[in-house]
Amino acid sequence: MRGATAAHPTGYERLRNPRLNKGTAFTEAERRAYGLEGLLPPAVTKIELQVARRHAEIANLDNDLLKYLVLTDLQARNETLFYAVLMSDPATYLPLVYTPTVGEACQKFAHIYREARGMYLPLTARGRLRELLGHWPEKDVRFIVVTDGERILGLGDLGAGGMGIPIGKLALYTACAGVPPQYCLPVVLDVGTNNTVLLEDPFYLGLRQNRVRGAEYTEFVDEFVAAVQALYPKCCIQWEDFANLNAVPILARYRDKVCTYNDDIQGTAGVALAGILAASRITGTKLTDQRLLFLGGGSAGTGIAELISLAMAREGLDIAEARQRNALFDINGLLVSSRTDLADFQKPFAQDRPPIGTFVEAVKALRPTAIIGVSAVPKLFTHEIIEAMAAINERPIIFPYSNPTSRSECSAEEAYRWSEGRAIFASGSPFLPVEIAGKHFVPGQGNNVYIFPAMGMAIFATEATRVTEDMFITAAQAVAEQVTEADLATGLIYPPQSRILEASLHVAERVAIEIFDSGLARVTRPDDVGALIRAKAYKPVYPE
Ligand code: NAD
Repeated sequence: MRGATAAHPTGYERLRNPRLNKGTAFTEAERRAYGLEGLLPPAVTKIELQVARRHAEIANLDNDLLKYLVLTDLQARNETLFYAVLMSDPATYLPLVYTPTVGEACQKFAHIYREARGMYLPLTARGRLRELLGHWPEKDVRFIVVTDGERILGLGDLGAGGMGIPIGKLALYTACAGVPPQYCLPVVLDVGTNNTVLLEDPFYLGLRQNRVRGAEYTEFVDEFVAAVQALYPKCCIQWEDFANLNAVPILARYRDKVCTYNDDIQGTAGVALAGILAASRITGTKLTDQRLLFLGGGSAGTGIAELISLAMAREGLDIAEARQRNALFDINGLLVSSRTDLADFQKPFAQDRPPIGTFVEAVKALRPTAIIGVSAVPKLFTHEIIEAMAAINERPIIFPYSNPTSRSECSAEEAYRWSEGRAIFASGSPFLPVEIAGKHFVPGQGNNVYIFPAMGMAIFATEATRVTEDMFITAAQAVAEQVTEADLATGLIYPPQSRILEASLHVAERVAIEIFDSGLARVTRPDDVGALIRAKAYKPVYPE
């Protein structure tokens, strides 16, 4: 472009730069100043009208993947408008840019691929990861969401197609809590795939080899973490959708060394704790009064149980006693100390009592206030189990958390009907409101989106050096506080998604205070932490 420089891009360059592009919202004066006259249709529109145009276009499509693609193309063309659209109606757009639609987008990634976004770090570039990361145009990256694509949602190994997840998740950090997009970087560590359908697909875009394991894998991840630290010392790394066999050791390896967390493990636990805290508001009880029984003793179950135990300990219970209040039941029955098949991470929750073989017997023996389903097996919360819970508790807490909907341990309608409308219900996947005997119930969804964007915003604003369990407990408390009495009256125990930005900024403020209190911030503590968060939050407003 004649006369253009990086500091003074031409009008045409502005139209092609998603961060500078305003499309038809360029004013008459800007069109004259930048040489845009003739390059745009004459009408000058306000951003509100541009948002309305996209609403109308998307509402007319009857296919969610097409809606996803329209939004993806908009993100590539005009970033401000993309976020203005998302933030104008989060309840409509979050399920399109993230779950469930992003799952289909990841499955079809190679078939719908359009433009480069984020970074692909293949195993074949080992030894050169720092060089590759240096190709990213932004020099101050603060937030990386990274996956190796092995366990994408409930869809399994999608290899390099997993890139849809870091991209979608980072869009939520921005849209739901205001983390500025220019500081965010989506990454795929391509260590191969064991998905034979992908390996045989001529369109597949990742490395055509099976996954590496063991020392080769660990060294590759080590190199990635070291390269990020060297290039972007203030960056938080969020691990996403790794298979359990890698997720747990990766978190253990880095959590005390760098600023990092795993949302599948820690965000899930945070959102479940928030649900229990809000449910306690309905029952007028304390967290330490609760007795929880988990159906499923895997990574989700033990992760939630541990965070709830730590939160109970923060309220004065001895940690061993707190863990006894979080009982787990798996495929082989109640976790009891006489069992010889328990993994190390399960042992702290083993009960000192004789074995119990069925879940309904466990409910009758332990008399829990809450049951949480994390078994990934549908319909295990039977009529008999929910009736037993309703006989023990005036307001039984019933959380079937398994995803997707087809795996849910029970439906919202079953929980309300079988408990005569007394259940306090939240699920992993959404259920529609239920009407029983003229009473309206709104089921809550234990969606991690209440936790992770706010966590990201707090870390970004404070430049936190570490991510601690206390930060997740604080986030959960702050989410639970956001639920209004009116929400609670309809049984809703999470804030509505339509209020997500407001709720997240409040949660971020509380987490930021926790970061300052524990000496983990790298910025000076301001008098008003809430003002710091709001000042740093991204707003979808065109640059001057
Ligand atoms: P996992 O494979 O690690 O654990 C599954 C557990 O269920 C195991 O302990 C297994 O023994 C037990 N189990 C299986 N069949 C059983 C049966 N018939 N009776 C009793 N126990 C049985 O899986 P995970 O990663 O812990 O995930 C479990 C579920 O939790 C998934 O459906 C996942 O979608 C869901 N989850 C939800 C959220 C959320 O809603 N925010 C977050 C994370 C995970």
